[in-house]
Amino acid sequence: MKGLVKFALGMEGVGLKEMPEPTPKNGELKVKVLAAGICNSDIHAIHDERSVTMPVIMGHEYVGEVVECCGDVGDFKVGDWVVSLPACYSCDECYLCKEGLVTLCKERKSIGSHRDGAMANYVVVPAKYSFKISDKAKTLEEKINYALSEPLACMVRGVYEKIEVKPGDTVVVSGPGIMGQLAVQLFKERGAYVILSGLPADAEKLALAKELGADCCVTNFDELVKAVYANNPKGADITCDCTGVTPALENCMKVIRPMGTHLQIGLFGGKVPFRLDYFFDREVNYIPSNSSSVSSWSITLKLLDEGKVKLAPFISKRFALDDWQKGIESVLSKEAYKVILLPDNKF
Ligand SMILES: [Zn+2]
Ligand SMILES: [Zn+2]
Repeated sequence: MKGLVKFALGMEGVGLKEMPEPTPKNGELKVKVLAAGICNSDIHAIHDERSVTMPVIMGHEYVGEVVECCGDVGDFKVGDWVVSLPACYSCDECYLCKEGLVTLCKERKSIGSHRDGAMANYVVVPAKYSFKISDKAKTLEEKINYALSEPLACMVRGVYEKIEVKPGDTVVVSGPGIMGQLAVQLFKERGAYVILSGLPADAEKLALAKELGADCCVTNFDELVKAVYANNPKGADITCDCTGVTPALENCMKVIRPMGTHLQIGLFGGKVPFRLDYFFDREVNYIPSNSSSVSSWSITLKLLDEGKVKLAPFISKRFALDDWQKGIESVLSKEAYKVILLPDNKF
């Protein structure tokens, strides 16, 4: 089979290689990959800004069909369509793993970075950390959306599990990229009033967010201040930064109410100049949310089954696995929400 492999440092250390088909061990599923999304963390891995165990097949956001089961795999069977939690090869024994918080395990091993991932014709995953997609997704076109369930599960972890959201809360989401768009939908689902903050260049993305339920979209700080205080004289109950950019975090701190909650989704990717006393001044609860948990996947799949969150608008580009370089270029150009690689080039 073919696999997109990170085998050495730098961009030159990434390439399509002929690989042996993986064989499932006890408790594992062999999955034929329909689609694999390119995540920003894949880009970080390519640029050696994230540790990976080389050589490794990349890719952790995927959807595919089970073609082989080995040993005890619960009620999974050949023909099931599945997605998986990426950190599915963590220690399985520590208190974090026992609570389904495998991503926080210090032995964390994820597909696509420490174990062979999904940018290949086949991937092997433990049944224990795999989930069946809704049987309402009948066509391949409907199934392909599930390649985006991993970023959604990360957002669900933040919005449903890490913080409390009360109906009517005023929420500011910063950044209209895919995470921001998913945040808008989830906060709306929880009954909040949602203001999405972007830049003038984001007009198209903000228009999409409006269609998907955002109550108000703003493109500069003055508009943000007006929108927040018009809705809630106390300030924003919750701010959620999906950018990982310091000025965006500062803007959040300027509109959050005393004792409000800040949810940090965007990764800063290094040291940042930031006045930490912003949190102190207003006794802000700063809550980071890192990746997904087992329980956030259950919520995610239920929301998708019930049609409460839309993923289709965010699949902007599709490439055959052979054209992976074009896919990476599209991600780097930031013109796409999500770029999908198709190992069988079904579309
Ligand atoms: Zn990802
Ligand atoms: Zn563990």
